[in-house]
Amino acid sequence: MKYHIDTIPVWDAYHQESECPLCILHSNLEKNYVESFLGASVMEPDTRIEVNRSGFCPQHFKLLYDAQNRLGLALLTHTHLKELINKFESHCKKVLKAAGQNKTSVIGSIFGRNKDFDAALIELQNWITKQHSRCLICDRISNTMNRYAYTILYLYDTDADFKKTFDSSKGFCLDHLALTIKIARETLSAKKQALWLSAVIPLQLKSFNNLEHELSQFINKFDYRQQDKPLGSARDSLPRTLQKLTGKYMD
Ligand SMILES: [Zn+2]
Ligand SMILES: [Zn+2]
Repeated sequence: MKYHIDTIPVWDAYHQESECPLCILHSNLEKNYVESFLGASVMEPDTRIEVNRSGFCPQHFKLLYDAQNRLGLALLTHTHLKELINKFESHCKKVLKAAGQNKTSVIGSIFGRNKDFDAALIELQNWITKQHSRCLICDRISNTMNRYAYTILYLYDTDADFKKTFDSSKGFCLDHLALTIKIARETLSAKKQALWLSAVIPLQLKSFNNLEHELSQFINKFDYRQQDKPLGSARDSLPRTLQKLTGKYMD
């Protein structure tokens, strides 16, 4: 897989002091997509077709709802719901047909373990679970995040200034560390993968150890004997540690 590079947002994210520049990029993308889905793209036929098909995951429906454009979201949700009802009906038809084939009641079929009925039910359950997690915003973010991760690898390999900046960064959160490893495996030679990992792993370890130390300072501050000690950078060590572990901002 070959990804396009996108250096400006990556540099911008590295210019901000953070536990993970990819978290900054992810958060910016999320804000932009929420705005764009409630803006002009509400009326774009291609986008509407995609939204009708996928809908959004619970987290992104919530962000769209919180954005307060109730008419825009109602329009998107209405046509998505209509398409969902059609698909739901066609999946349910198979279940009801299989249930009827046994010439017993639906309850009788369950206890009699009608194989066709069981298979149709599993299919329906899987379809609902899959539909519930589908999300156009997640899909678009994921594509762009792959590109950003690739850009980091590319800049590290080709730009001495970036290499210096990267080497003094705090690495990534766990989620985005996994993403850069995935993209490195997809796009780099074995030799370059080894070079990349030997740069990232010490950074990560240093960053984890610093957080552990700061978190310990933060905990000690609750001891009345240490209340006068200045906290310094340890003050926000809890939300930064949680971001490092989860890839989510805690504010
Ligand atoms: Zn991150
Ligand atoms: Zn989503």
